[in-house]
Amino acid sequence: MSKVYFISNRADSKERNLTKYHRLLRKLNLARMIVKGDLVAVKTSFGERGNLTYLRPQYVRVVIDEIKRVGGRPFLTDANTLYAGGRQNSRDHLITALENGFGYEVTGAPIIIADGLTGRDYRSIPVKGQHFQEVKIASAVLDADVLISLAHFKGHMVCGFGGTIKNLGMGLGARPGKQMMHSDVHPEVNAAECDGCARCRKWCPENAIEMVQVPRKGRKAAYIDPECCIGCGECVATCYTGAIAIRWESDPAIVQQKTAEYMAGVLAEKKGKFAAIDYVLSVTPDCDCLGWSDNAIVPDIGIVASRDPVAADAASLDLVNAATGITPSMLPEAARTGADKFGSIHRGIDPRAQLVHAEKLGLGRRAYDLVSLDKPESGKA
Ligand code: SF4
Ligand code: SF4
Repeated sequence: MSKVYFISNRADSKERNLTKYHRLLRKLNLARMIVKGDLVAVKTSFGERGNLTYLRPQYVRVVIDEIKRVGGRPFLTDANTLYAGGRQNSRDHLITALENGFGYEVTGAPIIIADGLTGRDYRSIPVKGQHFQEVKIASAVLDADVLISLAHFKGHMVCGFGGTIKNLGMGLGARPGKQMMHSDVHPEVNAAECDGCARCRKWCPENAIEMVQVPRKGRKAAYIDPECCIGCGECVATCYTGAIAIRWESDPAIVQQKTAEYMAGVLAEKKGKFAAIDYVLSVTPDCDCLGWSDNAIVPDIGIVASRDPVAADAASLDLVNAATGITPSMLPEAARTGADKFGSIHRGIDPRAQLVHAEKLGLGRRAYDLVSLDKPESGKA
């Protein structure tokens, strides 16, 4: 059984949120994990532009200060997205991060986008998965000595929920990996939205894109030859008109399993050099990759921390399910007490599939011992 430490979100003048948070961090004993001079990757999501419920940078600052205190050299990191938005390349990603409050003056750490300017800086790592024998992971995280995951715990439209497993697996997969996790089918061009700029053709590493005449339109549009396409997703990221659509066709359980296999690649060389923190706060029905934030589905619960990524997510999920739902929110009436909250919002998705598969891969245990660090005398556990 893995130890999971917990602080609730209750606070007052005698027991402030960040005082409790310091106590939680000390339990992770970063001094034993970090050797003086270690480069420490702190993986979080900076949130999409317009989203308002991503992790507060003030929480990040406390972790960064603790890493520095024990001699580490921290940097904040994430990898570029597959889909169009404010985090599709490092230039846009950094601007979004700064606009969302993750500047050095707030967090105390520089930001390094882990897969480089255009998402091409990654390496293949062997894994023994059901779906993958190798995974493509953003280089900066592989090169770091230590990895700490800071995950905002919330719902997700494909994985059911997003916590540590998604933060690492989906978050640190390079763009070809993200494409392979999301879909078994290759992208297609919507000729009606293509303006014929041919930028995608220039970027395609397989010469799989041709410019072809659009019938009765007197102009050309891109066409992807399915025989040559390897599904790397580069063209999706380079198309500014959104004409190249990702075909989200995988079974949600399979996406979750693939995400866990990507986490296996991320953690392959981080034995004893990893910690996970899940922030079970502002638990929205959907992911921070959306440019909006709906009402939370349960009250703010607290923060969990563990050396075991599976146990951290399992505990966070149980805490959400044990809570009473909020009205108004996306949560149906029937899901109010002890029910499967995310499963009732994202119908047909079993959010535990990622936990089951990650445990099968030996990445951690679903059974955990939840250790509350709230002071009993405060009566606020
Ligand atoms: S980048 Fe987009 S708009 Fe330009 S040719 Fe390719 S599909 Fe068409
Ligand atoms: S997915 Fe990759 S290989 Fe396929 S057309 Fe797009 S850029 Fe080329």
